[in-house]
This record gives sequence, structure tokens and C-alpha cells, in this order.
Amino acid sequence: MTIKALSCQLSAVSATLVALATVACQVRAEPPVAEWIDATATLDSTTTPVYEGNAPLSFTFILDMRRGDPLTLSAFSLGAHSGTHIDAPQHFIADGASVDQVPLSELVGPARVIQIPDSVQAIDAAELNRHVWKGAERVLFRTRSTSGHWMSSAVFRHDFAYIAPDAAQLLADAGVKLVGIDYISAEQFGAPAPRTHRTLLGKGIPIVEGLDLSDVPAGDYDLVVLPIKVRGHEGAPARAIVRKRT
Ligand SMILES: [Zn+2]
Repeated sequence: MTIKALSCQLSAVSATLVALATVACQVRAEPPVAEWIDATATLDSTTTPVYEGNAPLSFTFILDMRRGDPLTLSAFSLGAHSGTHIDAPQHFIADGASVDQVPLSELVGPARVIQIPDSVQAIDAAELNRHVWKGAERVLFRTRSTSGHWMSSAVFRHDFAYIAPDAAQLLADAGVKLVGIDYISAEQFGAPAPRTHRTLLGKGIPIVEGLDLSDVPAGDYDLVVLPIKVRGHEGAPARAIVRKRT
């Protein structure tokens, strides 16, 4: 065999390998996986709103290498319902599950983000039914609180959008696994009775409050929201992330 013939055979083999590799790549090609998006409000005592009457936020350095200490060590003090957090049934139901008992199956899974117009403060049954929400396993409301960036302003607003009791009843009756909203309460400020909380938590449905949905437009997502696991308490701050479903 001449050198030229050998080289032709080798290039034929390499062409076959390239073709095989191309086929293999095509077989392996999967739909692109969407990036995870942080839907958590950053806790910061200068920018995190605190619900009227709740404990203030305090983040301090006990030791700090910037001051010459051999290490950096912090202490946190904050209300259980600070920033992005989970309300467990125990919040309003005497024998309800505490935050450490809320099943992961409720906190992790598909969620639908619904855009509520800025003009709407009460998300009542009529408003809810203007949107496609039936069949959604988890429902998160993106409201005027997101447009106003209220979760990153220390001023506590009274006019945040809330879930009215009749909408909470529809969601509870439909068997949703979790309900969420983008300000630190799902209940109307100054409501005569906490009917929204009682309706949802009474059915064992955890509520995630204080979401930051700035980067999360309406649509279907995978949600992971994991509260700090504190035994026997009714709520805890959480990290919430979402990923667009394809
Ligand atoms: Zn709460």
C-alpha cells in the first residue's frame, strides 16, 4: 500500500468517526435546561421590610477579621416571618404542623406564577378566575409589590396586594399544595380576622410569603422553597428558587 492509499483509508476512518460522533451528539442532545432563578428577598436590616409588631432584624459580627480578629463570626436575630419565609399550619391552627413538619412534597415541585395587575390590591375569587390557575399544583402571585420593589424597601407598606378569603377558599378546595405571594403577608393588612391564613393553613397548605419575583415573569416553573428547619415553630425564613419549565 502506498503512503497515499494509507492516508486515504485513514481519512475515510476519521470521516466515519466524525459522522458517528455527530450522530451520538444528536442522540444525546436534550432540550436546554433553564437556569435556576433566585426568588428570595435578600435579608438586610437596612432594606428588608418588617411587618408591624414583628421582631426587628439584627445581623452583627461578634468577631470580624476586618477588625483584626482571628476569624469572622456572626449572630443573627430576626422574626420567624422575616423576608422570604414559610408560614406553616401551626401559625394559625393550634394543632397544625410546625415548619419542620411541612413535607418536602409541598415545598418542591411545579408552580405557576400569575401576574396580577398593579391596580389590584385584593386578589379575590373574581380576580383569581380571570387567570388560568386551575390545575396548577402551586400558585404564586406576582403583584404590585414586585413592581414597587417593596420587598427591598425597609418601609412597611399597608397597601400590598393580598389574597382575599374567597380566593383562598377556591385554592384550598382545588387542592393546591402551596400558595405564595410577593410581600410579607398574604392577608389584607388590618383584616378583621385572618381568614385567608386559616383557610389555607387549615387545609395544611403552607404559604410562602415575601417572595422576590422581580426576575420571574408569569409562567410555569419548578419551585424549590426550603425553610430553615426549626423544630416546633410556626414559620421560618426560606430560600426560594425557580426554574422555567420547558
Ligand atoms: Zn408569615
